[in-house]
Amino acid sequence: MSKLFDVSASCAIVTGAASGLGWRFAEVLALAGARVIVGARRLHRLQELGLRLERSGAKVEVIQLDVTSNSSVTACFAYCKKMNIYADILINNAGIAIAKPTIEQSEADWDSVIDTNLKGAWLMSREFVRQKRDGASASIVNISSILGAKGAKQLASYCASKAGLTNLTRSLAIEFAPLNVRVNAVAPGYIETDMNRGFLRSSAGDNIKKAIPMREFGQAEDLDGAILYLCSHASRYVTGSVLTIDGGHTAGI
Ligand code: NAD
Repeated sequence: MSKLFDVSASCAIVTGAASGLGWRFAEVLALAGARVIVGARRLHRLQELGLRLERSGAKVEVIQLDVTSNSSVTACFAYCKKMNIYADILINNAGIAIAKPTIEQSEADWDSVIDTNLKGAWLMSREFVRQKRDGASASIVNISSILGAKGAKQLASYCASKAGLTNLTRSLAIEFAPLNVRVNAVAPGYIETDMNRGFLRSSAGDNIKKAIPMREFGQAEDLDGAILYLCSHASRYVTGSVLTIDGGHTAGI
């Protein structure tokens, strides 16, 4: 049984690893023994993460990556190939939200949210599968959101992008199954990170918390089990699934 969640022979790419959940996913996979490739735009943050993980004995590659840019994505995989590194886990975590009323949003606002959250995951997944070793099994985990299944005021582009990501997950799962690549999504509810802690601890956050049956926000560690499950042999027969982690927030009507 101890082998069920084993990822120690794997190599994982985590996008948007410079902060928040992506940082935590990289840590979890590295501490579980996987080689980790951390990608994001802020190189200094990635280097800080890389040093920290290396000190704990992990094998880490740090790559500057903009998931909205096809040339940046292909350069990332070209670098891995040059270094003879073939990833078998991809965590599409990079994401942004622009919270404003729709009538105040620009076309550029819309494009940047859709390009990061949806097109970015598609570009990364396409290149990941193109570069996969023949016959090897692989796992893609898309970090969607409960807002991929629900609407929210001032977050139309974010909700649309995450709904798209959830259904991209299902479509790629069907297409990639014969290639031995599983594709699943995690749909977190409100998870405290450095970026949203101030808001979640405000009175507006208190109102959200009242709607959560477990009456608390999630912590990044609450996603550890889902990541290890979806990346390992434990989920061998699971593809096209969306795993909701939200303290029961979306369970009711
Ligand atoms: P975060 O802002 O700390 O992390 C997002 C990361 O993505 C950042 O490091 C950012 O630099 C990176 N990024 C943004 N654009 C990028 C690009 N073009 N190329 C590469 N990297 C880019 O926020 P987070 O809360 O850690 O969110 C991580 C993911 O989890 C996002 O996809 C978010 O939508 C999703 N999510 C978060 C929550 C939550 O409550 N925290 C809930 C549901 C879903």
